[in-house]
Amino acid sequence: MNLTRKKIVAGNWKMNLTLQESQSLVAELIGMIADEKKNDCEVYLFPSFIYINTLLRQTQETSIHIGAQNCSNKSTGAYTGETSIRMLSSVGCKAVLIGHSERRTYYQETNITSAEKINLAIEQHITPFYCIGETLNERNANQQFEIIEQQLNEGIFHLNADHFSKCVIAYEPIWAIGTGLTATIDQAQEMHAFIRNKITEKYSVNVAQQVSILYGGSCNEQNANELFSLPDVDGGLIGGASLKSRNFMNIIKAFQ
Ligand code: PEP
Repeated sequence: MNLTRKKIVAGNWKMNLTLQESQSLVAELIGMIADEKKNDCEVYLFPSFIYINTLLRQTQETSIHIGAQNCSNKSTGAYTGETSIRMLSSVGCKAVLIGHSERRTYYQETNITSAEKINLAIEQHITPFYCIGETLNERNANQQFEIIEQQLNEGIFHLNADHFSKCVIAYEPIWAIGTGLTATIDQAQEMHAFIRNKITEKYSVNVAQQVSILYGGSCNEQNANELFSLPDVDGGLIGGASLKSRNFMNIIKAFQ
C-alpha cells in the first residue's frame, strides 16, 4: 500500500434498499465510523439516484461521501428518464460511477459513452470512478490486458494529466462481480500494476502514484485485508458486502 495515494472503500448499492433501509444503513455507518478514529480511508456510498439528496443531508457533518451510480452522456435536453451531471452537481453530489460492467452489459454502454460521461463529470468537478474489467471468456483467452488497455485508451486516456489525476479507477473483473469468485491476490496485483504502468507510460510516474486504483468483485470482510495490502491496490468498490453496515465496516477496518 502506497501511503501517498488515497485509500478508498466505496459501496455500490445497485438497485437495492428502500429509502428507510438506506437511511438506517447510513445512520449505523455514521456511528461505527465515528468510533474508528484511527482510520484514514475515504468512504463513498453510491445509492439510488432518488436517495442522493436525502443521504447528502444525512451525511453532511460526516466524512462519508455520496455519489451516483450513473449519469447521462448528454449534458441537457429531451432525454426522458436520464439524470445529467449538472443535476447531480446541483444537489451537491461529488462522485459518479462510470462504465460499470452492469451498465455495459445490460444497457450497451461503451468506452465511448464512458468517455463522454467522464468529460461532463470533470467539467462539473465531480469525481469519476471509471470501472473497467474483462469477462471470463476474455481472461480464458488471455486477452485481459488487451481489453483493459482498450478500456483505458478509449474511455479515459483522452484526459489531460491534470484532469486524469482527479479520477479514480476501479478494476472489476466481470467474472468476479456478484459471483463469489474473487481474483487471486496474484491476479489482482498483476492487473493493478499493469494499469499503473499504463498510466505511467501515458502520463508520468507522478500521476500514476496519485491515482487510486480500487479492486471490485466479491470483495468481502474475509478477503479485504489481503487484497488491500497489495502494493497497487488502493481500496475496494464493494457491491453485495456494502448492503450490511457491519460487513461494510469490517471492510473499511481492513485498512488498519
Ligand atoms: C460491483 O458491482 O461493483 C461489485 C464489486 O459487486 P460485488 O462486490 O457484489 O461483486
